Amino acid sequence: RWDEIWLAGLRDTAPETIFDKLIGGDIPASVVYEDDKVFAFKDINPAAPAHILVIPKDRMNLSGLRKSSPEHVEILGKLLVAAGEISKNKELGFGDGGARIVINDGEDAGQEVPHLHVHVLGGRSMVWPPG
Ligand code: ADP
Repeated sequence: RWDEIWLAGLRDTAPETIFDKLIGGDIPASVVYEDDKVFAFKDINPAAPAHILVIPKDRMNLSGLRKSSPEHVEILGKLLVAAGEISKNKELGFGDGGARIVINDGEDAGQEVPHLHVHVLGGRSMVWPPG
């Protein structure tokens, strides 16, 4: 199909990351929310009582926020709306006091997986500035 060929040309040629394996079910994930565009799961090494990662299912060329362009407006909005919803979920350990929503973008920020992800942290008080 021509549209698939065209879309493939837009995609990053970088190798897939561990997050693609989680999305594909090759590695088990504790999934807390999923729709056609967004995938959210518990962080395997939680930094707070509640720690969820929200990612685009199709990374396209979004290894990080610095790669974003107007074509990503819709997916970036969906990621943040999902993060806001998740941060209200008491069953996941979030409280009434809000959450820390973080994107580590690049090496200096400590980003390890080059597939854009939104951290949603909660269930305790946070300090500022972060380390
Ligand atoms: P950092 O490790 O500094 O938080 P990132 O911002 O790139 O760097 O976050 C990657 C996150 O992915 C980490 O919090 C890590 O615990 C999480 N992670 C890595 N592998 C898995 C996995 N298999 N299942 C769930 N979370 C994972």
